[in-house]
Amino acid sequence: MALLEPQVSALPAFAQKFLSRDKQLFIDGEFVDAVSGKTFPVFNPATGEILAKVAEGDAADIDLAVKAARRAFESGPWRSMAPAERARLIYKLADKFEERLEDLALLESLDNGKPLAVARVADVPMSIENLRYMAGWATKIVGSSIPIPGEFHAYTRREPIGVAGQIIPWNFPLLMLAWKIGPALAAGCTIVLKPAEQTPLSALLVAELAAEVGFPKGVINIVPGYGETAGARIAAHPDVDKVAFTGSTEVGKIIVRAATGNLKKVTLELGGKSPNVIFADANIQEAIAGAAFGIFFNMGQCCTAGSRLFVERSVFDEVTQGVAAAAKAMNVGSGLDARTDIGPLVSDEQLDRVTGYIQSGISEGARALSGGVRAGDKGYFVEPTVLVDTKPDMKIMREEIFGPVVAATPFDDPNEILAAANDTVFGLAAGVWTKDVSKAHKVAAGLRAGTVWVNCYNVFDPALPFGGFKQSGWGREMSSNAIDCYTETKSVVVKL
Ligand code: NAP
Ligand code: MG
Repeated sequence: MALLEPQVSALPAFAQKFLSRDKQLFIDGEFVDAVSGKTFPVFNPATGEILAKVAEGDAADIDLAVKAARRAFESGPWRSMAPAERARLIYKLADKFEERLEDLALLESLDNGKPLAVARVADVPMSIENLRYMAGWATKIVGSSIPIPGEFHAYTRREPIGVAGQIIPWNFPLLMLAWKIGPALAAGCTIVLKPAEQTPLSALLVAELAAEVGFPKGVINIVPGYGETAGARIAAHPDVDKVAFTGSTEVGKIIVRAATGNLKKVTLELGGKSPNVIFADANIQEAIAGAAFGIFFNMGQCCTAGSRLFVERSVFDEVTQGVAAAAKAMNVGSGLDARTDIGPLVSDEQLDRVTGYIQSGISEGARALSGGVRAGDKGYFVEPTVLVDTKPDMKIMREEIFGPVVAATPFDDPNEILAAANDTVFGLAAGVWTKDVSKAHKVAAGLRAGTVWVNCYNVFDPALPFGGFKQSGWGREMSSNAIDCYTETKSVVVKL
């Protein structure tokens, strides 16, 4: 692991201009200050310095945004717009993302800390693909005609659910926004979206792009603010029809309780503690690379992070040392530095959390083959860490760390690996590495997880359903399943 010396170079002109302007809320097609007049600071995780001040939306602003979204849903041009016209607007937004790829990637890297090179090839292009995929659905949301006994004509209609509240996290700010707004817009819903307090910047550029594209006023409202105030109001609001949340399992449970007032529909995409299982008959070099990618991608701040590595004992040392060697070969530095493999964690809070987990693991007897400490003393950097000598009841084996920290455990009996891999309250994703086709499919079937990757990791596509078993969530994102989560089905029965 090499900690790169910070390079001091001026920010590109776009970022200077964007950051120097007041960052306001986007409600009913207008950029406005918060009702309270308050702002909150957004930090650069590579330096700990303030990047921008953003208007702080709270309950009062959410109420205005919901009012605008309700009006746009009930009476605006959105309601009567042909699905093909809705699709065209979503395609146009995707085109804007493409035109502004560099600007979006730059904001994402500055705000979240992730390598700019990654934002360019992953976050922004995947967001574009998601929007385009969902735009295609707008014209394909259809009911069916259903034969029933008697003189009746019976059919179903799929109607938009209404006003959708969307609360997203900071690990993939733009991509999570795209996952949320794509299906909601395709279905004909209107939106009140709260980005994470740590990373509101790309969402605010999207608000500008949505206004340029010509979405009718009130269809997309973007209200940065804190979870406990703005987020809580979305979840509890009596006039929000559905809330879609991505974040921690702990807050997911708060959302569910808050939603009971009007029984709004709830979808949740929550945490994980995903097992990555390597059998001795795997292509070991590919498995090592896959295990490293599975945990270190996005500094481990992935809900799908392969944070529990199970390796058949005969190849355990080879694999864990290989992953540790990959960790040691990584450059840790600012996301804007082209040499960087690992950027900072998103916040000082996450830095404390992740280093706290590492210390807890080591104090309970785990050993670090690589990393194990903070990197440098400025910014929120943590060395990519491989922990061995783990026990199933350690906190590092049970709780989501959300950092570049993998806990590795050997196994002897391939028949017992499913029990160990499934020994978690989570069920988001899993990996399996083997050349034995039969074993691969059997293990894939036995893993209690929403996504299983065989001989690969973190492969996503907008056509694939994504979501969690157990406490990793409710419902699915992407694919036609996401459209289902933004529509209601109505049965119409006509006496002939
Ligand atoms: P979090 O609190 O769950 O944040 C996710 C979103 O929920 C943010 O927009 C947040 O607002 C909002 N929120 C927080 N409290 C709320 C409430 N009472 N009502 C409504 N909305 C609320 O996550 P975090 O605190 O940033 O991170 C903590 C841990 O969560 C991480 O270490 C990680 O384990 C997990 N996490 C998981 C994912 C994932 O993709 N599954 C993503 C992020 C974090 P604020 O921005 O103001 O907090
Ligand atoms: Mg929080």
